[in-house]
Amino acid sequence: MSKRYTITAALPYTNGPIHIGHLAGVYVPADIYARYLRMRGKEVLFICGSDEHGVAISMKAKKEGITPKEVIDKYHNIIKKSFDDFGISFNYYGRTSSDVHRETAQEFFKTMHANDCFETQTTEQLYDAKENQFLADRYVVGTCPKCGHPEAYGDQCENCGSSLNATDLIDPKSALSGETPSLKTTTHWYLPLDRYEDFLRSWILESHKSDWKTNVLGQVKSWIEDGLKPRAVTRDLSWGIPVPVAGGENKVLYVWFDAPIGYISATKEWATQEGADWKPYWQDKNTELVHFIGKDNIVFHCIIFPSVLKAMGNYILPENVPANEFLNLEGQKLSTSKNWAVWLHEYLEDFPEKQDVLRYVLTANAPETKDNDFTWNDFQTRNNSELVAIFGNFINRVMVLMKKHYEGVVPPPNSLTKTDEATQKKLAAAPTEIAQLIEQYKFRAASQEMMQLARLGNKYLADEEPWKLIKTDPDRVATIMHTALQVAAGLAIVSEPFLPHTAQKLRKMLKLNEALGWDNVSALHLIESGHQLGEAGLLFEKIEDDAIAVQLEKLSS
Ligand SMILES: [Zn+2]
Repeated sequence: MSKRYTITAALPYTNGPIHIGHLAGVYVPADIYARYLRMRGKEVLFICGSDEHGVAISMKAKKEGITPKEVIDKYHNIIKKSFDDFGISFNYYGRTSSDVHRETAQEFFKTMHANDCFETQTTEQLYDAKENQFLADRYVVGTCPKCGHPEAYGDQCENCGSSLNATDLIDPKSALSGETPSLKTTTHWYLPLDRYEDFLRSWILESHKSDWKTNVLGQVKSWIEDGLKPRAVTRDLSWGIPVPVAGGENKVLYVWFDAPIGYISATKEWATQEGADWKPYWQDKNTELVHFIGKDNIVFHCIIFPSVLKAMGNYILPENVPANEFLNLEGQKLSTSKNWAVWLHEYLEDFPEKQDVLRYVLTANAPETKDNDFTWNDFQTRNNSELVAIFGNFINRVMVLMKKHYEGVVPPPNSLTKTDEATQKKLAAAPTEIAQLIEQYKFRAASQEMMQLARLGNKYLADEEPWKLIKTDPDRVATIMHTALQVAAGLAIVSEPFLPHTAQKLRKMLKLNEALGWDNVSALHLIESGHQLGEAGLLFEKIEDDAIAVQLEKLSS
């Protein structure tokens, strides 16, 4: 493993709040990974920020009769607060409307321009004569030439995931006026992706053929085999970062050119704040760069941005891009525009203090290898029959028995039975098993391995029945409780990446030595005899049918 990690999570687009699909696909897995690496003593920089340019912002502003700045300020604040309240452990959350970002993105463009990394092309583009506006990206809607979806956008078809040029659309219509656009000549800068084909083939399809996820490799392969074409990196728009070279008047950088550079500008802002140097996080070969994204961003993070980094020359490339598939909601595709979503800021209002429940459900059912479905019934079941009935029940039994029979002072163990030894052996193996899964980006399986440890503790107590033995064999009960407490302490440590709020509460209840971490669990002696436990508290609460009915009602209204 490397010493230093730069972890990025896809920049949320500021035309709406965060929903569970974003969380399951990107932010929860990225946060598990970042928290885990920090626990292993790695130097981690976990970066994100708001993506604030692009046509969808100007369109939203136009629709709501406000300025683009008002749109981005509104959603940036909602998004940032919901991430804070939810407990995503970014080291820095920036925004692409910042001065540092504008300067950084312009510097990238100027450097690449000076090094002849672009081509210019004068072409006929779709133009809305009524609105006096060139139409690109989301300003134009039409039929996808690849799959026939009738509502494809000028930059991408959300049905088949194909990346498109506006002029590829069949029967295009202006999203501004609804008119059929005309063609008008304009000149733009293009990134000739065809020049990077050999590099991309050998870097991804050969060097990473066995460590990248198959869904990611599949998309990259199909892109390359379709033939990489020059891609415009500028637009005829007013909202965005001005093109900083001669001839760039009234043009801005394409949002997908500037957005990933946002990871770098956010790093610079973080470094200034911390008095650190930003360069090692992006230019030192001993840094591992990992991009967490959803499958709709694969082309930008595996083809376009790496080509930009390669062109710049002195940047590292991502070590992995563990993109997830999509999460559906109650069997239907999540949609911001159709308001078919569970919004994070609303969830936090309805279920305050239940951040970990949502984290757990989204991880246990993560869309890692295929699209998955979130249902409120599953949410309730995972909470009631796993978090409450297994994890919570185990800890509760330990705390209650310890209080009742030992006033919370850990008793010394007596001779161990085969069951005790087997339990200890499983506890000792757990951190390595969980670690291996996390390091392979298998967060879903890792979370189940963590729950398996809680199940082990719960079953151990149920089988050994210390509450019955206390009258006849108190020596045996001392051994059982001593052993169960080691499992509880191990759980307080290995659950932290998945359930950070719970882990913290549990550590406090056990008064666990703060110096104890991941690498101490296997040694087994996490809690010594004579140690005084803290006050018991409830880790999880049952979620009743009424609360679920309210959520289902909310969706159908
Ligand atoms: Zn399509």
